Amino acid sequence: MSARLMILGLDGASWRLTQKMVADGRLPTLGRILKDGAAGPLYSTIPDVSPTAWASFMSGKNPGQHGVYGFGMKAPGSYFLEPFSSRGRIPVQSLWGALSAKGKRVAVINVPMTYPPEPVNGIMISGFGTPDDTGNRFVYPAEKMDELRAKLGPYILDVHWNQYEKLGIPALLDANRKMTERRAEYGLHILGQEAWDLFMLAFVSTDRLQHCLWQYLEPTKSLTAEQQGIRNQVLEYYDYLDGVLADFMTASPDANVMIMSDHGFGPCTAAVNVNTFLEQQGYLTWNKTNERLLRFKWLAKIIKSLGINRQSFGRIAKKLGMNEYRGLEKLSHRSNNMDWGTTRAFSYTPSGIYLNLKGREHRGIVEPGAEAEKLMDEIKERLEDLKDPATGQRIIHRVARGHEVYSGPRLDMAPDLMIAESDTRYMCNFNLYRTKEIFERTSWRSGNHEPEGLVLACGPGIAPRTRVGRAELIDLCPTALHLLGEPVPDDIDGRVISEMLLTTESVKSVAGPGQIDTGSVMSAEEQAQVFERLKGLGYIE
Ligand SMILES: [Zn+2]
Repeated sequence: MSARLMILGLDGASWRLTQKMVADGRLPTLGRILKDGAAGPLYSTIPDVSPTAWASFMSGKNPGQHGVYGFGMKAPGSYFLEPFSSRGRIPVQSLWGALSAKGKRVAVINVPMTYPPEPVNGIMISGFGTPDDTGNRFVYPAEKMDELRAKLGPYILDVHWNQYEKLGIPALLDANRKMTERRAEYGLHILGQEAWDLFMLAFVSTDRLQHCLWQYLEPTKSLTAEQQGIRNQVLEYYDYLDGVLADFMTASPDANVMIMSDHGFGPCTAAVNVNTFLEQQGYLTWNKTNERLLRFKWLAKIIKSLGINRQSFGRIAKKLGMNEYRGLEKLSHRSNNMDWGTTRAFSYTPSGIYLNLKGREHRGIVEPGAEAEKLMDEIKERLEDLKDPATGQRIIHRVARGHEVYSGPRLDMAPDLMIAESDTRYMCNFNLYRTKEIFERTSWRSGNHEPEGLVLACGPGIAPRTRVGRAELIDLCPTALHLLGEPVPDDIDGRVISEMLLTTESVKSVAGPGQIDTGSVMSAEEQAQVFERLKGLGYIE
């Protein structure tokens, strides 16, 4: 009989910073697992952004299989940009889906990329990607939410850190603390009430704070008394969160515990506007008409209000047998910011570049084959040569073809070129509007994602005092299945991290289900809500 498994996610928790804080005598719970359990860095996906990373975590599969390449998705055969979650759940089996199918009980709370909630054998509260957290649509079974709200108060989905540049740091810390308290109350309540084999809860507060308060977590110069005061408050929050983790572990002393992050974090020096780079190199032209129109606020409002009409337009187009996306594309200002008659390459996802390819795009101008290959070689070379004018240093270390980074049935949706390795102090931004400069110094944003996240584990099935070697985010799903005594589907890309486990039982394999139809598509209103949230989280303009 395998022990139960509890996975606690800390969005953006850094292996390096956690070790540093433990060495400073903080984070006693994490410190204890670091010392007595199995632990190590955990490498994220390319790009290391939350939608891509969490989708890969929960499926054990690379984006070539689940199709989540960033915050937005270029709809096939069109320039329409959809939010990452607009087609609903990822079209591959999730960890909890696999367990539910085997009759195991699961409780899954606040994991990004789980909207709409999956009808699991147990309970699910969807996380980041949920358009609206006031109703019950993000909970399975939906009626459960009424009971939870009555007992525990309103659920708080997220904190939009970008808004707190105006509202101030104390207000941000306050909102963040309230969100975590509520999350812990919901989590502990469900943990005690439900029968479960897998309990999973993700905290996103770490990511939200680190985006704007990184300079207090890892200061590079001496702080003033006031700054030191803020640093103390931020550190207190981390100690509080560490205590919350201890509460969960105490409440289920028999379980195996895994604490993980979807990516790490580090300082942020500047945003790199990739589309401005492409413009300056002569590959991209902005659509001047669209730009002029958007300068008038009232007109922008009307265009924005079309967001609602997009839905009906898309439905009508579909009924008439038209390419639904092409209709949507005409009405979406985001899809018309570039002049498609002259643009040869453009960026729609973090670190990803698409060619305006003839035959694939309906207004494509780049000939497939030799012309496309030459263009990609040229862009790669120029990007790898891009230097920060302030320091003269190169910042992009490796640009790869999409097919070199990804594999699987959704490879056709992948960007043609990916910035696969870069100086993580620079955030590669897919600016959808004209900017004067490629490099934009960031003031409020002081932290940026890094590939090196963490995994820490302890419990009856976990190898004690073990350093995990090279583990990847996609390895956790198969590792969790094996730890729960289940076979690993053969279409999973990750491996079982056997050095982390005590069991000597060999890994059982089973035929994987491949692509699955989740049958869910978001309404345009929901898509607009998701875009608003992405703005609040500083991921899209
Ligand atoms: Zn983030």
